[in-house]
Amino acid sequence: GQADMECDTLVLGAGPGGYTAAFRAADLGQKVILVERYPSLGGVCLNVGCIPSKALLHAAKVVTEAEEMAHAGVKFGKPEIDIDGLRGWKEGVIKKLTGGLAGLAKARKVQVVQGKGGFSSPNTLTVETPEGSKTIAFRNAIVAAGSSVAKIPGFPYDDPRLIDSTGALELRQIPKRMLVVGGGIIGLEMACVYDALGSRVTVVEFADGLIPAADRDIVKPLQKRIEKRYEAIYLKTKVTKLEARSEGLLATFEGAEGSGNAPAEPQLYDMVLLAVGRRPNGREIAADKAGVVVNERGFIPVDSQQRTNVPHIFAIGDICGDPMLAHKATNEAKVAAEVIAGHKVAFDAMTIPSVAYTDPEIAWMGVTETEAKAKGIPYEKAAFPWAASGRALAMGRDDGVTKLLWDPETKRIIGASIVGVNAGELLAETVLAMEMGADLEDLALTVHAHPTLSETPMFAAEMGLGIITDLY
Ligand code: FAD
Repeated sequence: GQADMECDTLVLGAGPGGYTAAFRAADLGQKVILVERYPSLGGVCLNVGCIPSKALLHAAKVVTEAEEMAHAGVKFGKPEIDIDGLRGWKEGVIKKLTGGLAGLAKARKVQVVQGKGGFSSPNTLTVETPEGSKTIAFRNAIVAAGSSVAKIPGFPYDDPRLIDSTGALELRQIPKRMLVVGGGIIGLEMACVYDALGSRVTVVEFADGLIPAADRDIVKPLQKRIEKRYEAIYLKTKVTKLEARSEGLLATFEGAEGSGNAPAEPQLYDMVLLAVGRRPNGREIAADKAGVVVNERGFIPVDSQQRTNVPHIFAIGDICGDPMLAHKATNEAKVAAEVIAGHKVAFDAMTIPSVAYTDPEIAWMGVTETEAKAKGIPYEKAAFPWAASGRALAMGRDDGVTKLLWDPETKRIIGASIVGVNAGELLAETVLAMEMGADLEDLALTVHAHPTLSETPMFAAEMGLGIITDLY
C-alpha cells in the first residue's frame, strides 16, 4: 500500500539507544524518522531509570552523610523531607535532559513521530498516532524498543501499594514499612533511597546473595552496612503470596531448605516494590511481519554489526541482549548507524562496566573472580582495603575494597571490582586500562594525585607487583 511518510533510516524507540542512533544517522546524512510511543524522548533511562534514580540517590547521600557527620562532631537536625519538593526537583532534572533531546532532534531534522509502532512488512512500520494510523516506508530500520518490568504472576497489580521501579521513582509517599522484592541493582538502589527518606526497609532475594553478578567479597561491605540500617534481609527466600488487606499488603515468605531466616508468619507492609528484573520488548513490535527473529526470551539476536537476520533491520540496546545498560545501548547505536552509512565498524568492547549506585557503590568490569573460577580462566589478584587509604579515612568511609585481576603471564589487567564511595567513577580508569591492554606496571607507575580514592587501583597494582607488602 501507500506510505504516509518515508525515510532512509527508521528508528523505533527513543531511549538512549534510539536517540543516539537517530542523531548519528542524521549526522551521517540520512533522512531519519524516530518513532516513540511516549510524548517525552529519552526512554526508560531518562524518564524512569538511570537519571531519576540518581537524582533521588543524590538526595539520599546528602541525608545519610549529614546524619553520619555526627560521629565527626558535626550535628544537623533531623532532615525535613518535603517529598513534593524532592519530586519536583527530580522532574526538573528529567525535563532538562528530555527537552534537550527534543532540541537536538530538531537541530538535525530528525522527524519524531509519536505513537506505538509495529512492523507491517519488511520495509514498512505502522504507527498508531494520536491523529490515527500512519505507515512509514524505510530503507533501513534500527529497533531500539527496550525492555519492561518483569512481573511475578498472581500479585495484586491493581493495588497502588504494589509498585515497580517506575512507581518507586514517582515518590508518591514515604511508607513506614517497605518490602523490596529482588536484591539486584534496581531493588537495592531504591531501597537505599527509601531507607534514607525514613522507611523501614526489608529486602528479599531468591538467590543466595545480593547483586548475584558481583564477587561476594565486593558485595560484603554493602551487605554489612545495609544489615545495620535495614529492618531485614532475607536471602534464598521467595515471596509466595502477596495479598491486599486494608492495613497493608500481606506477604508470605518461603525460605530455601536450611537457609532459615525468613519469617514463618506472613508480614504486613505499607508498600511493596517489585524489582525482579526486566524483559525485552521483542514480542511487542510485530517483528514477524518483517521476518525478524525474536528468541524465546524476547530478545532479537544480532551480529557484531547489530544486524538482525533481516540484513537491513538492526537492533540495539535492551531489546538485543544483556547487559541491559544505557552505555551498552548508546555504543551499539553508533555502530548500527555507522554500518548503515557504509562504515566498516563493529561492536567489539572488551568490557562493559556495571555499576550499582548503592551506598557503598559496587562496580565491576572484565572478568570477576567468580566467573574466572567457573570458566577456568587463569588469574592472579590483589585487593586493596580502603582502611589503608588516607582519603577514605578522611571521608569517614573506609568500608571499600579495590580489587584487580590480571593475567599471570602477561600481567595485563583482565578485570576489576570496586566497592566503596564513588566506586562507579573509580572504575573508569580500569576500563580504559583493559581496553588499552595495560599491565600492572602501567597502573603502578602512573602518578596519581594524593590523597584521592583514585590511588586505590594504583595501590592494588603495587600490591600485585610486590611493591606494597605491608599496608601502612
Ligand atoms: P529504553 O530506554 O527502554 O527505550 C525504549 C523506548 O522505546 C522507550 O521510550 C519506549 O517507550 C519505546 N518503545 C517501545 N516499544 C515501542 C513501540 N512499539 N512503539 C514506539 N515506541 C516504543 N542503566 C545504566 O546504564 N545505568 C543506570 O544507572 C541505570 N539505572 C536504571 C534504573 C532503573 C530504575 C531502570 C528501570 C533501569 C536502569 N538502567 C540503567 C537501565 C537503562 O535504563 C536501560 O538499559 C536503557 O534505558 C536501555 O536503553 P534502550 O534504548 O535499549 O531502551
